[in-house]
Amino acid sequence: MGCAGRGITSAFEFLDRHHLRDRYSRVIYDVLGDVVCGGFAVPVRREYADAVFLVTSGEYMALYAANNILRGIRNFDGDTYRRVAGIIYNERRLEDEDGRVRRFAEAVGLPVLVKVPRSEAFARAEEQNITLMELEGAEREKNVFRTLSELIRRGPELYAAAPLSDEELEAAVLGRKLLREEPETAPATEAAPAPTPVPSAGAETAALRRPPLYGCAFNGAAQAAVRLTDAIVIAHGPKACAFYTLQTISSPGRKNLFNRGVLLPSALSPNFVSTDIGHAEAVFGGMELLNAAVKEALAKKPGAVIVISTCVSGIIGDDLKAVEKLSEPDIPVIALAADGDMSGDYTEGISMALETLVRRIMDVNAPKRPCSVNLIGETAIAANGESNFRVIERLLNEMGIAVNCRFLGGATTAELRQLAAAPLNILCSDTADARSLRDFLVGEYGFAFLDKPLPVGFEATAEWLRTLGAFYGRETEAEAVIERERSAYEEEISRVSRRLKGKKMIFSTINSNIDWLLSAVTDAGMELPFVGVVNYFHRPLIVTAHPEKYPMIQETYDVTVSTEAVHRYKPDIFLSAYASRQEDGVLCDTLPMIPDLGALSAVHLMDRWIRLMDTNRKGAWENDKQLFEKYFA
Ligand code: SF4
Repeated sequence: MGCAGRGITSAFEFLDRHHLRDRYSRVIYDVLGDVVCGGFAVPVRREYADAVFLVTSGEYMALYAANNILRGIRNFDGDTYRRVAGIIYNERRLEDEDGRVRRFAEAVGLPVLVKVPRSEAFARAEEQNITLMELEGAEREKNVFRTLSELIRRGPELYAAAPLSDEELEAAVLGRKLLREEPETAPATEAAPAPTPVPSAGAETAALRRPPLYGCAFNGAAQAAVRLTDAIVIAHGPKACAFYTLQTISSPGRKNLFNRGVLLPSALSPNFVSTDIGHAEAVFGGMELLNAAVKEALAKKPGAVIVISTCVSGIIGDDLKAVEKLSEPDIPVIALAADGDMSGDYTEGISMALETLVRRIMDVNAPKRPCSVNLIGETAIAANGESNFRVIERLLNEMGIAVNCRFLGGATTAELRQLAAAPLNILCSDTADARSLRDFLVGEYGFAFLDKPLPVGFEATAEWLRTLGAFYGRETEAEAVIERERSAYEEEISRVSRRLKGKKMIFSTINSNIDWLLSAVTDAGMELPFVGVVNYFHRPLIVTAHPEKYPMIQETYDVTVSTEAVHRYKPDIFLSAYASRQEDGVLCDTLPMIPDLGALSAVHLMDRWIRLMDTNRKGAWENDKQLFEKYFA
């Protein structure tokens, strides 16, 4: 059982246990050069080896392995500690072999101690089952080993490991050109100093092409799975993977709670446990730990148990699917073989988790609920996520339509089971994850989706309600709700306009529809001399459906334009995607990335401006300063 690396570790434990090393003045280990894991590296650890000899031929892969050993030694010893004796050159009689070994030795700063010639004498000794020294003749070959043994007996001079980069190795051994070369410059003179070397264009382009790191598939799958509120999610891997993922899950939860007083239970306190794979399981397998963790989870009677594999459990080959057999009649055990980053990145992990959960849990024959709808792809981190859900739920309920399932905005396993019962689905966010989930549900199950986003502002809400009314045959109910929303909107706009009428506002925004804000600001009687738009998403501008009504919109915009605009228009309020600006006498505030939903979206913002205008902001900062001095200075 276990890998060869484990075997080497066991061998050394055996030597130690029996104090075998103490019996000899010199101990020589002849070990494999592939330092592929900690087990293989045991013999070169300081407690075992005072000196390391690299045996290599002139083949590229042999020199590559020798260079890897130097890397391993440097990891143990650092750049200055001296423990490498040199190179034992084991000739294979290749073309330019002497040259290759010599160039490698020079590049890593090591001597070639001996050259073992290619010779039939070794094969003859093997055939006779004796050592070379016992063979008749072969004095030339024997002398090599006499030299070597004398060197070991005397104690060789030692060097620090100085491995090459792969590129340097290829240049030294194969004669390939280095990508990053010193620029050719004329010798420096006093009048014309040498220019500073710059990375080559190739190196820069390679850096730019490197994809951004969002996280591994394990991390993405875990983020999705914990949103099934009654499931227990088991991370099958080391503590560190679970810790890192728990941080990324709970970070928005902590931020929302401490900064904004908003509670996101699935983010703050997810049902997330770890099998804590250790050294022994990494070698002998972790199925025992996993089975025990699944049984413990099942005993708590959750809606489902979801198991996700990390790199370690993926590499050691634990059979994740096997735990699905532990499923109980009402509690499915679901394996998500993310295998850390081996099955993809963060986004692919999310998609894999969502699709697997649908396939395993959803009942395609669930009894139909004709007057219900599913909400698909709610974002996990929006601070106004729950209040927005309440608005949508209220509007739907007032039309006699129920929310069937929020997938996965806080659904239980039972709700996910009846996902197919609703005749219509609403996509809640325009993110890649949400779109990919929609495409999956449409492509695999023929789900119908509303072709409108969730409504922001009165006009969009009215249109959204009408479309839903037409789909469900509830036009009359829709019109009644629209009338109620209209009255509420007009009443609220008239209230805020008592404070905001005549106030001058300018704002800058990224490329998204802001008709809800433009119409509300106009309805409240505010002045709007300038709107700047940054085409952040590089797609057609969709700021307004009525460009003729808003000639002040400027589509080519940058931060210098906004500075000029603030000085030219001297606004009372400056609104931007990021409130990075401070101007005396100007109220600067943010335009939310995820606005409140429903008819009163803009009114909520306006109430905020009024509150801010009534706040003595400078005075508040003064108070903060006094508090700071009192407690920290
Ligand atoms: S990449 Fe692998 S090791 Fe790193 S957190 Fe993901 S599963 Fe764990």
